[in-house]
Amino acid sequence: MHELSIVMSVIEIAQQQATHANASIIDEIELDIGSMSGIEMSAWDFAWKQGVRNTILENAISKINLIEAKAKCNDCDAEFPIEHYYDPCPVCGEHLISIIQGKELRVKSLVVS
Ligand SMILES: [Zn+2]
Repeated sequence: MHELSIVMSVIEIAQQQATHANASIIDEIELDIGSMSGIEMSAWDFAWKQGVRNTILENAISKINLIEAKAKCNDCDAEFPIEHYYDPCPVCGEHLISIIQGKELRVKSLVVS
């Protein structure tokens, strides 16, 4: 389950940030997760509960911003929501599209004390 390894790297980032801020507790963590980031939310929740045990994030509230994927057509420049890489442009039917949003996976903010 790759979600757990991602949770572990989020914990590592949070730990570094907290050390940097001389904080020992993280109260809240906010994450941006794109709908095309490859993360399965049910697996994520499970991995999170397992992963944060006995870490600086154990009691932190985790806020997740789910980001809907969007693509831009390389041919006609239309922007549209997308679910799969192979979805064509709804305007002209072109398959050469660029994902402009939805692959995010990042720690947006941390509240420490
Ligand atoms: Zn197009």
